[in-house]
Amino acid sequence: MFNFVSMRQFIKKTILLLFVLHAGFVFAQKPFTSKHEVIRCINMEDYELQLQKQDTTRKARRNNAIKIMDTWIADRKLHHRPDSIAQYTIPVVFHILWNSATPAEQISLAQIRTQIKVMNEDYNRMNSDTTKTPLPFQPLAANFHITFCLAQTDPNGKLTSGVVYKQTTTTKFSMTNNSAKRPALGGDTAWDPNKYLNIWVCNIYDQFGNQLLGYSEFPTSPLDNTFGSVILYEAIGDSGYLPLAAYNLGRTISHETGHLLNLHHPWGDDGGLCPSQAGGADDGAADTPPEGNSLNDGYGDGSGPTFGCPPFPYVDNCSTTSPGIMIENFMEYTDDNCMNLFTNDQYTIALAALNGPLSKLVTSNTCVAPNGVEEYSFNSSITIYPNPSKGKFVIAFDNSSRITIQVLNVLGQIVAEENSNNMNNHNFTLDITDQPNGMYFVKISNGVFSTVRKIMVSR
Ligand SMILES: [Zn+2]
Repeated sequence: MFNFVSMRQFIKKTILLLFVLHAGFVFAQKPFTSKHEVIRCINMEDYELQLQKQDTTRKARRNNAIKIMDTWIADRKLHHRPDSIAQYTIPVVFHILWNSATPAEQISLAQIRTQIKVMNEDYNRMNSDTTKTPLPFQPLAANFHITFCLAQTDPNGKLTSGVVYKQTTTTKFSMTNNSAKRPALGGDTAWDPNKYLNIWVCNIYDQFGNQLLGYSEFPTSPLDNTFGSVILYEAIGDSGYLPLAAYNLGRTISHETGHLLNLHHPWGDDGGLCPSQAGGADDGAADTPPEGNSLNDGYGDGSGPTFGCPPFPYVDNCSTTSPGIMIENFMEYTDDNCMNLFTNDQYTIALAALNGPLSKLVTSNTCVAPNGVEEYSFNSSITIYPNPSKGKFVIAFDNSSRITIQVLNVLGQIVAEENSNNMNNHNFTLDITDQPNGMYFVKISNGVFSTVRKIMVSR
């Protein structure tokens, strides 16, 4: 007799089996996806070669930067420098590339500020999880003495929030063609890399079609106009829209900024080999343990990086005894809540970059607002019309700064509150037709400055 229940179970099991087989097949095609769907970063050595292939003049600039940095390090060793610790300041500009189909891509200024906070914590050994650095690694942990700021002066000398919001029709930005940095492909042109650290925020994919957390370029001398990091919009800062549980503490940018400072992945991007083996590579930092991670144990996938957060000590094929490899290093592929330090030798590498190819960037004065006129220029960039009106006003801005708007009545009560998410071509339509006739105050703020305007409702 036909058993309907067992037949249904058979079909269910078959579908499940087919799904598992199919999933296994898909994963086998895409390296690095055995544990996580989103890839932290890319093989930086391969990417550098790809950039040099795309622009054959790059190789000379990259080699020039390496020579300058190597010379600086050799000189420092020879003269036992530095005796005093230098403080560095780096202005940052974020290019937010957003598509109206995905409103979450329009990351708020408040959320971007949490990213600057995380960078300043991680690069000054002020992160709250320094206590999670294992005891044997504690003496190796370094303070880089770098302060990051949101730029306050734009390339035209005008006040900026340090964030450019650019609407785009592009839905997927490709690492391969660097589209985030190319206006013709829906991206945005860099601000002068000698004055600003450029970070593009968008929906990015690697060459295998995997969503990617971020990728960066190593410094060249002189710097290329594409110098900077491209970051997935779902991994900015530590508060706000952060749907990826493993990457919600802002460490994507801490990691990527490390590459901009010439830091390499600890396993040397050599596919699982140890530095001592033929073809094996190192990260150039003597105090990060030798690392290859050729393990296929769920934390490693055999190709080099370590995912997730394995318990301490985690040993691999290159560091076979405790304390093992340094999975807590910001240059690893581990989860955000697993990483908590840079090392002293990584600091030396970064110092060579700051004193070499990035020497102009760290003397840029764009962290400071333009002289004297900033409040005035913010005020003069805003027009409200018609005024008086029957309750609908257009607020027009001549820049793309993210702004918030509050409307208060004469009693000081807030009757309307908006932000520039709903702004179209720098114009915002304010509707207070539900309010009685009379005078109202419109308070407009870009997070740095604010201004108050009077408007009149008269019917
Ligand atoms: Zn990386």
